[in-house]
Formats: sequence, structure tokens, C-alpha cells
Amino acid sequence: MTPGVRPLIAGNWKMHGLRADALPLAREVAGGAAGLAAELLVCPPFTLVAAVAEALAGTAVAVGGQDCHAAARGAHTGDVAAPMLRDAGATYVILGHSERRQAYGEGGAGLRAKVEAAIAAGLTPILCVGESESQRLAGEAEAVVSAQLAEALPEGFAAAGGVVAYEPVWAIGTGRTPTEADIAAIHGAMRAQLVRDFPAGGPQGGGTTRLLYGGSVKPGNAAAILALPDVDGALVGGASLVAADFLAIARAA
Ligand code: PGA
Repeated sequence: MTPGVRPLIAGNWKMHGLRADALPLAREVAGGAAGLAAELLVCPPFTLVAAVAEALAGTAVAVGGQDCHAAARGAHTGDVAAPMLRDAGATYVILGHSERRQAYGEGGAGLRAKVEAAIAAGLTPILCVGESESQRLAGEAEAVVSAQLAEALPEGFAAAGGVVAYEPVWAIGTGRTPTEADIAAIHGAMRAQLVRDFPAGGPQGGGTTRLLYGGSVKPGNAAAILALPDVDGALVGGASLVAADFLAIARAA
């Protein structure tokens, strides 16, 4: 944890959830959220953002999207704009998740434009970065993460409260996690880069940007991971679909 920074525990529901199960899940999470040290966030699929936001209105749980388009409106069949997410009740948006990098070739200037669009719409972006297994084995993890940050972080990211999630691709949904030393090393390197790029002090600068870890976070490993320096929360996939597990992770923060 970074002293003075409120941790964020974010649930990425991915392409899971129909009203019949998602709304009870959201309500159960909200039921256990009061009084926690950590801020809680759930990111349902687009179809459920408005309904979940309505179900969570007045609770301590925020709602986010899982992607947005870089344009605020226009002829983009099938896409969703950042102001639409905001209008539906979202306050966060996950961007550059490795599943989207792989499936849709996201990255580079296009991803940076999405981060800028999110900030312009009043959403807090959660930018995902992380190396593949072959990159990790080749000793390139730190360099890959550094390059992904450099290409996607716009000016003003830290001042807007932007969040970064380190998610090694090989740890997502696999039950495998890096060693604590490896997580701490990447988070330390990300912190140094953010402080260098956003040198302002206090909440305007990179010294207080929340750095989440994601990839097979479970109730059993959450406390150890969340205790590491510069780990300011978690981005949780599979375990966020079970309210008791998600809340157990949140209590570990
Ligand atoms: P996981 O997914 O917790 O199921 O590994 C994390 C993510 O993809 O955000």
C-alpha cells in the first residue's frame, strides 16, 4: 500500500451476467461494503451498467465500464462512448485489458485516445498493462510494462486520478501469480515512472496514483499481495463473480 492512498478493489465481470444473477450479486456486494477501508467498484458488461448503477445508487460501491470508444459520438456501430457510460451511471472505465489487446489489437495511440476520452467524459480510467509469459521468461517484463505505460498515459492522467492495473497476461484466469518479489519489483518500477512523468506533489502527481495488481487474486492470496509496497488495490476477475470472495478480498485491503 502507498501511505495516505485509499485502496481500490475493482471487480471485472467480463462477459458474465444477466439481470437475474447480476443484480443480486451487485446488491450482495453493496451489503458488505459499508465501513470498509477500501473503495469498491464493479464493472459489469455494457448491457448491465445502467441497471447495476441504479441498484447501487446510494451505496458505497461504484460502477465502471470495461471499454469505451475514443470518440464522444459518431458512426461507430456496436461501440459505446465514454459520455454514454457516464450517462448510464458509471464513474470508472477499464481500458486496455489484455483480452482486448489480444482480440482487437488495442494499444498505442488508439488506447491513449481512449484514456483521454474517458477523462474528458469525467470517468476515471483504469489502464491495464502487463507482459505475456514469453516476455516474462525473456526477462522483458519491466520493459514491456514501461513501454505500455509510456504509450498510453496522456498528460493529466495523474491529476485526473487515473488508475493503473498491472496484470501479467499469464496470471489472468490461470490460478498462477508472480512471486511477491516480482509484483513488488514491477510496481516499484511503475511508481518510479509515474513520479518521473507526473512530478507534482500530493493528489495531482504520480506518487499517489493508485497501482492495482490483477491476475488470479483470490481471498487466499489477497492479503499478502495487498501488503506489498506500491500495491494500492486489486483488479479481480473470476473471484469478483462471487460476492463472498470479492468481499473477502476487499476486507484484506
Ligand atoms: P482473474 O482476472 O482474476 O480471473 O485472473 C483478472 C482480470 O482479467 O482482470
